[in-house]
Amino acid sequence: MLAPGATIGILGGGQLGRMTAQAAARLGFTTHIYSTEPESPGAQVTPYVTIAALDDAEALARFAASVDVVTYETENIPLSTLDAILPLAPVRPGLEVLRVAQDRLREKDYLRSIDVATAQYREVTGPEALGRAIRDLGHRAVLKTVRMGYDGKGQVMITPDINPIQAWAAIAGAADSAGLAILESFVDYRCEISVVVVRGANGSLANYPAVENQHANHILDTTIAPARIAPELAMRAEAISRHIAERLDVIGVLAVEMFVTHDDEILVNELAPRPHNSGHWTMDACYTSQFEQLVRAVAGLPLGSTERHSDAVMKNLIGNDIDRWREAVGEPMTKLHVYGKLEARPGRKMGHVTRLLPRH
Ligand code: AMP
Repeated sequence: MLAPGATIGILGGGQLGRMTAQAAARLGFTTHIYSTEPESPGAQVTPYVTIAALDDAEALARFAASVDVVTYETENIPLSTLDAILPLAPVRPGLEVLRVAQDRLREKDYLRSIDVATAQYREVTGPEALGRAIRDLGHRAVLKTVRMGYDGKGQVMITPDINPIQAWAAIAGAADSAGLAILESFVDYRCEISVVVVRGANGSLANYPAVENQHANHILDTTIAPARIAPELAMRAEAISRHIAERLDVIGVLAVEMFVTHDDEILVNELAPRPHNSGHWTMDACYTSQFEQLVRAVAGLPLGSTERHSDAVMKNLIGNDIDRWREAVGEPMTKLHVYGKLEARPGRKMGHVTRLLPRH
């Protein structure tokens, strides 16, 4: 068990790294953020920062030697980066969950192997394979790069009037070096939900309630906590998510994104072995936030309570939405979070607001 004063290393300096560092500081831990960007939201709130490439062996070794444990705030980290750190510092969650979560194909194969339902999918290696996969799965489908996709990047909707060559070209620039992609059946879902599961170093497991997520332009716009679904469905989603966290032996936080279909089927879409945007509401509406849980788990402390004292609606402030901070800060039951990013580019997550409501 790490004691206050110990140092937690965080790979990535985005808003998730920033909010993890803030939670760590509250418990008396020091943080050291390793970021590829010279200026980052995380760097503003941590005493130690390394700015270097993810394949800089010397910088990684110095970073690893200066911390007591390492965690990450993004799944877009080469496994070789963790390999370089592991002889010098433990990494939590571990390598295996990252290996699964950073590759959409491996992720779906893994989920199926542990009896978790997903959309139908096919591996796609080029325009001819895509043509065959479309004939197999039908014309309503989504083509995604296997790696490095997030917030709708590296995705194209397949429609009857798009030809495979065009569709492949649309994602080819973003496809990983292996040129691999995945075609998924389009899920005509009733709603999108997610569950954030936390698992301690001793295997203790807890989850926040299932929440409902609304996207705009493929980016999370609003999270409604708890989800407006039947209790039986919420319990099923929570059980699926806990099952995945246990099987992957996660120490830390795992977010599980799911579709709820019109026939009340739950299909898992994506895993994120880190704090998740759909868990930001926990900072203000729960006794322990997802960020504090991550710190507790990686430090070997007991988990906190995942109970909520309030219901909540979290809204992202994307791009110029951040100009509405004045309005948000004037509402007494709304909590404003600003990430400190210098430039409000379109599609960029600049902050979020959480409106607290009486618990039902
Ligand atoms: P992802 O990057 O996989 O999280 O996808 C981003 C968003 O695109 C999801 O939250 C959904 O709104 C939509 N989406 C992704 N995959 C599918 C699918 N197979 N069927 C329908 N919508 C999807």
